Amino acid sequence: MASYTHPQQSQSRSSNASAESFSFDIASAITSANIPAYSKITKVTITVWGDIDTATSRGKMTASFGSQSICSDVWCGGSAGEVSRSADLNISTFFNSENANAGKLKDSSVRLNITLDGPVMVTNFNHTAKYQIYFEWTPHSHSTEVRNKVSATCTTTGYTGDTYCTVCGTKISSGTTIAALGHSYNSVVTPPTETSQGYTTHTCSRCGHSYKDSYVDPIKINKIYIGTSQPKDIYIGTTKVKAIYIGTTKVYG
Ligand SMILES: [Zn+2]
Ligand SMILES: [Zn+2]
Repeated sequence: MASYTHPQQSQSRSSNASAESFSFDIASAITSANIPAYSKITKVTITVWGDIDTATSRGKMTASFGSQSICSDVWCGGSAGEVSRSADLNISTFFNSENANAGKLKDSSVRLNITLDGPVMVTNFNHTAKYQIYFEWTPHSHSTEVRNKVSATCTTTGYTGDTYCTVCGTKISSGTTIAALGHSYNSVVTPPTETSQGYTTHTCSRCGHSYKDSYVDPIKINKIYIGTSQPKDIYIGTTKVKAIYIGTTKVYG
């Protein structure tokens, strides 16, 4: 558990009004407390003082924080001195807790209002309102794990996964999409025969997907003459054979 007490703040006025209203912005107190994100806020206590001494009269202090009354109708003595009252602020109503904005006000416009009222005020008398605020919280350290992770495949996208705290359940960050990997093909050539086409088979080493292309016609071998007759063109597949040798003797081409 950690805590912070903000130094006492005060405002004074001098007037002969029958009532004086003071308004405090506690934002600086909250900033000074420096409560870490995701802390559990366990206590926020506010103490107010009213010095409404008139020496000849008695005074009344009312104070509220937003919709929450802190004190009202408190009468202090007729002689010099001040009166104080404390109240725990409603944490769930006013403060963020166990999230990224832990300790901060849900509505930053909410102020502490103190009114000092003396039924019989004395001209040019000093009236002073003060407050002090105390915070208590339990720090929190995230323990993270990745959820919703999806591996990419050759043809489908993946997801790096979301990071969650296993203790408080907070989703700390979202993942990103992983692009599809695309196929990784190995190519194998099947040569043509006299009766069948040749082709190339491409097979993905990752998922096994395969397809064929680069078809070539069956081998056409016309008669080969070894002698005086000119052979006809010889093809292997669609490629015309340029020359054939037997030993060192060129017999074709
Ligand atoms: Zn956490
Ligand atoms: Zn594949």
